[in-house]
Amino acid sequence: MRIDIITVLPELLESPFNHSIVKRAREKKLVEINIVNLRDFTNDRYKSVDDYAFGGGAGMVMMIEPVFKAIEKLRSEREYDEIIYTSPDGEKFTQRLANQLSLKQNIIILAGHYKGVDQRIRDFLVTREISIGDYVLSGGELPAAAITDAIVRLLPGALSDEQSALSDSFQDDLLAPPVYTRPADFNGWKVPDILLSGHAAKIENWKHEQSEERTKRLRPDLLHDDDENG
Ligand code: SAM
Repeated sequence: MRIDIITVLPELLESPFNHSIVKRAREKKLVEINIVNLRDFTNDRYKSVDDYAFGGGAGMVMMIEPVFKAIEKLRSEREYDEIIYTSPDGEKFTQRLANQLSLKQNIIILAGHYKGVDQRIRDFLVTREISIGDYVLSGGELPAAAITDAIVRLLPGALSDEQSALSDSFQDDLLAPPVYTRPADFNGWKVPDILLSGHAAKIENWKHEQSEERTKRLRPDLLHDDDENG
């Protein structure tokens, strides 16, 4: 899989992809993550990629031409399954969407900045708009990093067996059960006996009950919202 992220702040994306599971997935060649500096696609002597909004109003707008050129350059090199724009008014990013995107071959993620990108890019080039939550961040780099991380950890071979994504929250519309490690007794705070019993089947059963109980208590919407969880 290949993910190209178009950004005006490449420095912001240096760290998230150079650690832990994403770093190892890149080393294993499961994914190629390519950061595209939007400023490489402007002829402006100051490398600016924003301009005033038509009609006035506070804030600058990402210009159409550099974004168009960056996307065209990428598209001249390969076909893309999705051109994603990160936006607070996009569809909500969920584990379900991460699962879907992890099956794609090539994805572009356009990280917005300023007041956002010229609407014509959204109308004519973008195939999908994704929000990571109902709040406004300064730019699309953190959303792009979150989306990429959630996708990459789902690629076959990215996680070792004991880290399996299947046991994480949301995969089966349930939250994950609680986890414990040594010591079994910390100043009287004890690990549930069942986990020390050695009964594999009973332990699995207990974990499932815990998942159900947590989900009912903390996120009952996951159990009922068929549209969202299908
Ligand atoms: N004027 C925009 C609005 O009100 O919807 C917000 C612009 S925001 C300051 C700059 C950029 O950050 C957006 O274009 C988008 O790419 C990104 N961004 C901010 N919050 C986001 C969120 N919750 N999900 C995805 N992207 C977000």
